[in-house]
Amino acid sequence: MILQAQREEIAIFGKKMLTENLVKGTGGNISICSREDGLMAISPSGKDYLTITAEDVVVTDLDGNIVEGNLKPSSEHKMHAIFYKKRDDVHSVVHTHSTHAATLSCMRMDLPPIYYLQIIAGMEPIRCSKYALTGSQQLAEYAYEAMGNQNGALLANHGVITAGVNLKIAYYMAEQIEFASELYLKAGADISRVTPLNEAEAQEMYDVFTKVFYGGIH
Ligand code: 13P
Ligand code: ZN
Repeated sequence: MILQAQREEIAIFGKKMLTENLVKGTGGNISICSREDGLMAISPSGKDYLTITAEDVVVTDLDGNIVEGNLKPSSEHKMHAIFYKKRDDVHSVVHTHSTHAATLSCMRMDLPPIYYLQIIAGMEPIRCSKYALTGSQQLAEYAYEAMGNQNGALLANHGVITAGVNLKIAYYMAEQIEFASELYLKAGADISRVTPLNEAEAQEMYDVFTKVFYGGIH
């Protein structure tokens, strides 16, 4: 099996991506580029991450032609390949649909540099791309343009893309962009609208707890 180590790593990180809630269902995709032979290993399209094995990970050239593998490569292979074609510093690409970052992307908002660990993906705002259809060459180009010379971008009405020197780093960037997006949205919440319980309501509830848990049923 060619690119065995890369394919094993992609199978492992796919499970991580799902169980750590960066995607739902079969959303998102992961690739690693092997520069020496101009090939990439990429997650298969639409397959449950919990069942993906190294053999299921597809090896293609940078034009999406299958070199080894029985399944269809991710439908976003063009969006992965564009970074390998145009940037020498990128060896792995991760695409997620994490909730808070995708929320910003639905508002077509950039994520300003608000959280220290997001800086791993760039010192400037993490920019939101223009909208394009999933799987299209246009989306690949918009993703590339939005990322600029940074390592992460939001995809309009869709999710996140990160590009790193290896899969571990690209994954970490996707995690930090998600967490920073969550902080950004929560920091922007209008907490002045929250109505706390008044003293009598709190006392009444405290008495219920005291009776039930301390003096009641035990
Ligand atoms: P694939 O299952 O084809 O990788 O597509 C998932 C996705 O996130 C499309 O943007
Ligand atoms: Zn997607």
